[in-house]
Parts: sequence; C-alpha cells; structure tokens
Amino acid sequence: MFMRYFARFYSAMAGPRPVVLSGPSGAGKSTLLRKLLKEYSGVFGFSVSHTTRNPRPGEENGKDYHYVTREAMHAAIDKGDFIENAEFSGNLYGTSKAAVQDVKDRNLICILDIDMQGVRNIKSTDLNPIYISIQPPSLDVLENRLRNRKTESEESLQKRLLAAKMDMEFSKEAGVFDVIIVNDNLEDAYGQLRDALLEEINQVKKVNMSS
Ligand code: 5GP
Repeated sequence: MFMRYFARFYSAMAGPRPVVLSGPSGAGKSTLLRKLLKEYSGVFGFSVSHTTRNPRPGEENGKDYHYVTREAMHAAIDKGDFIENAEFSGNLYGTSKAAVQDVKDRNLICILDIDMQGVRNIKSTDLNPIYISIQPPSLDVLENRLRNRKTESEESLQKRLLAAKMDMEFSKEAGVFDVIIVNDNLEDAYGQLRDALLEEINQVKKVNMSS
C-alpha cells in the first residue's frame, strides 16, 4: 500500500535525480559508466549527446553519441533543442532536451557525461543533478592513457591535455562537485562511484519493483 502510494508520488515528481559525470578526457569516465550501466541496466540510462566529432572504432551512432554535422548542430541549438552545449578540442558537443527526457520517461536515473563547460551550464538550469568528478591520479598518467588509447591525433591529444589541466583545477573549486573520485585503480574507483550512488540506486529499485 505504502509502496504504491510512494510510487505514484515519486513518478508525479520530476523522477529520479540525474547524475553528472565529468572529468578530463582519458580519466576513465566512459569505462566506469559502462560498468555502471551493465550492472544496473534497469536503474540508469545514458543521456546520448550530440557531437560533431567522428566516431571512434567501436562507437555506435545513437548509442555513444548522435554524430551530426556542424550545420545540423548549429540549427538544432538555434531551435532551442539543447539544455547545454560546448566546444571541446575543436568539436561541438551538446545534451539535447530529448536525450534527458527519454531517460526520465523510462523512470531511470539519467547519467550525463559532460565536460567542465557543460557542468557550469547545467548549474544554471533546474536539472539539479548529483555532480561527480572522475579525476586521473596525475597529468602524466593521463597522458600515458590517452597515448595508449591511440584514438587521438597529436594535435587533439595536446588540446585534450590542456583541457585536462583546466579540468583538474576546476574540480578543486569549492562547491562544484558533490563527489570527487581519483581513478587510480578501476575497481576501487568503481566501488566509490557505486557507493556514492547507492541511495539513489536503492530508491529507484524500490519504485520500479512496486510499479
Ligand atoms: P570524447 O570526444 O572523448 O568522447 O569527449 C570529449 C569531452 O566531451 C569529454 O570530456 C566528455 O565528457 C565531453 N562531452 C561529451 N558529451 C558532451 C555534452 O553533451 N556536453 C558537454 N558539455 N560535454 C560533453
């Protein structure tokens, strides 16, 4: 009885609180996110961003990103389709209203993987997410990881390292992030991420079980 009442009340609200995952490119956000989506497929849903960058080997249109041209992206931004958008390492990225709504409609916790400009922009919306930063142990480790990944040209790699330096500073600003996780060891970092979200996970599980 209580659960049915709670479920109704809960879905009448905005739905579960979204989660923002941010941090430098190469810090391990995507790997951690994939693990979380796999372990809790009925709990989390990924907000699929738009980007003008080319797909990397193994990436899928509509799953990892919506890959679009600059023209199409500008047109959609002008139409007001995006909650936030940013230029990163020479490409446009953005979170569409539809991407977040799609996850909310499924009553899942919406995860946004966005850069620091995205974090700043989301702060001025009414999305009210939990802000989590994934940081590398050091810039040297990050550079090694990015080089070993072999997905970037030297130019793109240098741009990403510069952005990473700024991101590492940004993450230290008071009041920006609720949780900061240093990804030195993947299993430890994943454990910390799961612990940080456990309350939300249990709440969504309870609601979904009773509905
Ligand atoms: P990558 O090209 O490595 O997939 O992503 C580069 C950076 O763009 C990452 O820091 C990632 O978090 C960020 N990013 C991905 N999607 C979005 C988005 O929709 N908005 C913003 N602001 N950043 C994004």
